[in-house]
Amino acid sequence: MNGLIQISKYAGMRNDLAQAGGGNTSVKLDNQVMLVKSSGCQLADVSADNGYMKVNYRVIQDYFENQEGAMTEEDGKKLLVQAQMEEGHASIETFLHAMTGKYTLHSHPMLVNILTAREGGKKELQELFPEAVWVSYHKPGAVLAQACYRACKEQSAPNGDSEVIFLENHGLVVSANTPERVIEKTEEILRKIAGYLHASYRIYSSATRIWDMFLRIPQLQDMIVYTTQSQYLSWEYIGDALIGPGRWNHAFCPDCVVYGAKKILCLCDDFSRRDIVDFMDAHGRPVMICYRRHIYIVAESVKKAQEIENVMSFAAQVQTANLKKKMNYLNEDQQDELLNWDSEKYRRMLK
Ligand SMILES: [Zn+2]
Repeated sequence: MNGLIQISKYAGMRNDLAQAGGGNTSVKLDNQVMLVKSSGCQLADVSADNGYMKVNYRVIQDYFENQEGAMTEEDGKKLLVQAQMEEGHASIETFLHAMTGKYTLHSHPMLVNILTAREGGKKELQELFPEAVWVSYHKPGAVLAQACYRACKEQSAPNGDSEVIFLENHGLVVSANTPERVIEKTEEILRKIAGYLHASYRIYSSATRIWDMFLRIPQLQDMIVYTTQSQYLSWEYIGDALIGPGRWNHAFCPDCVVYGAKKILCLCDDFSRRDIVDFMDAHGRPVMICYRRHIYIVAESVKKAQEIENVMSFAAQVQTANLKKKMNYLNEDQQDELLNWDSEKYRRMLK
């Protein structure tokens, strides 16, 4: 279960891997039971009591092994009902997960799709990853899973300790025996493609690096690290003028304090666990982090992170417009008053 949460959070907080509700994860508990992400739940929101379903994956495997002809969507629907071991809606990619290894992450990585979606991309990917399986485009669901099943049978190459499938015009599937290996392998693939394309991948891998450190700090273990996308939080907009010289201060209005806490945490290139813990002792849980010239947001969910991003983009514009003026800030007492207030209640009240 913890492993499933781990790979779900890893992909769910990274908007280069999972956009909106996209992507899904699973874990096989024995030779029958599989937990698979529910449809309608965002990956980063999978938790011990939310976002996954119990499915009998043997039912699906047996079906594929014995099915000769082409499968229809209708067949798929029936099969899914048969396989579900509890009420709810399993992801439409459940079929796909039934055929892979113990831990599986299916994501929609930007870097992978640059290649799966372009002419000649198949050849490029096969050269870069000769051990991977290629599956041509099919509509997501049972039909895609059947194509996958057949492709894996035909192209079964020596696998090593992980399994990699590229889905044309769609994305990536990685499975392995441990959650750590799934993450490592996904990162390995992305790094290799980034190198091949001369594309920058650092802002995303940095988010995972910070999050990795969070896993070792009890108060931050359940948090995600969100890579900001707003142009107003880019280094070009606020870096040299505000962040670099240490002039960033968003404590000029109540919302900014409630959403962004008091201070931004600036991490050096080779930061340690200690740097984060010391910051927390002095200023509480970090919300905004600057690392290697990019801004990250720490939050409970992607949705919350995006709300905070919104408020901080506003804070960036107000400060930028006032660069040559002296700004008035809320004093420490006024900030504490807001933060000691039940900030959840406050946020709801604002809406
Ligand atoms: Zn997908």
